[in-house]
Amino acid sequence: MKLANPAFDALRAYATAMPASSDRFVEVRLASNENPYGTSQRALAAITQELAGLHRYPDPGTHRLRAKLAQHHGLSADHFVVGNGANELLELIAHTFLGPEQNTVHADPSFIVYTLAPLARGIETRGVPMRNGYHDLDAMLDAVDDQTKLLFLANPNNPTGTHVGHAALARFIRALPEHVVLVIDEAYLEYATAPDMPHGIDFLPERERLIILKTLSKAYGLAGIRVGYAIAPPPLIELINRGRQPFNVSSLAQTAAVAALSDTAHLTHSVHANEEERTRITRELSAMGCSVTPSQTNFVLVDLGCDAGPILHAMAMRGVIVRSMAPYGLRSSLRISIGTPLENDLCLRALHRALGRDARMVA
Ligand SMILES: *Cc1c(COP(=O)(O)O)cnc(C)c1O
Repeated sequence: MKLANPAFDALRAYATAMPASSDRFVEVRLASNENPYGTSQRALAAITQELAGLHRYPDPGTHRLRAKLAQHHGLSADHFVVGNGANELLELIAHTFLGPEQNTVHADPSFIVYTLAPLARGIETRGVPMRNGYHDLDAMLDAVDDQTKLLFLANPNNPTGTHVGHAALARFIRALPEHVVLVIDEAYLEYATAPDMPHGIDFLPERERLIILKTLSKAYGLAGIRVGYAIAPPPLIELINRGRQPFNVSSLAQTAAVAALSDTAHLTHSVHANEEERTRITRELSAMGCSVTPSQTNFVLVDLGCDAGPILHAMAMRGVIVRSMAPYGLRSSLRISIGTPLENDLCLRALHRALGRDARMVA
């Protein structure tokens, strides 16, 4: 008898970005789309206060955080479930909704966890190729059949950085058969500046099987503490709660999230600084001869027009860590998180040297 669950034959352990090294003089970490401006000072102060209570279990019902979320989004608290990062919620959604013989649909390339969670349960996943980095919504609808239970839509998408606009999303939601649970992952929504960027929450009145995923890991600067949440009609939240571990979110994470959600100045600064740097990086990378997919997020997908592997390695030797797209089959591309202006300068310089191109740098 095989040692592991046979479904695990289809899986590989998550490939981490290179770990932070302590011996390097400069280290610029631009591989995981974290907030380069750090954590909200309010959240840090709240965590410090919470330390005295660490001998107690956290609130299994995350009451204070869900009350804050209810106020933040203008919905009642029973529309929310909190997870140990949005990643845990993706696992819980797979755990809750997927049964034998069913399948899931996602865009390719998109967030790798959309395939990991179903595959671990022996569930078929259907990747629908994107077109020039944009969702092919008609092809995604075509991939749906009577056995499709979950459809994952990252908006904006990782790793392309592109978004589905309001009109297209509205049409898609109306065309999607009712039996499908639509999961809209808005991990990067705070960073989007496109005027037609839709908010999944606006579609809750018209669809029962809809889940919106949010995280505090990106613009809110709390990736290390692990907290994310799902918004859905209360009957779906109740189902997800059945399979949830009671103490899945630590007391520090709950407290930090409440404080971070109140710190609008930190969020606004992070988003504005990101937008400025996103514009600059896009311009400078293009001037270097790279092809940059227009981004609504805090990262850019960059096609170098050559094998990206040696370039990634050469950049790492200069202390600049970016994300390989080889796991997605995009061998000539890198995904580069947008850092502080200084980090971006170091990154552009490292890339420029690694490419060895006689490129004009735009000032
Ligand atoms: C980073 C990211 C998340 C957030 O994951 P956490 O577990 O909350 O850190 C979710 N979805 C996508 C597409 C992401 O890129």
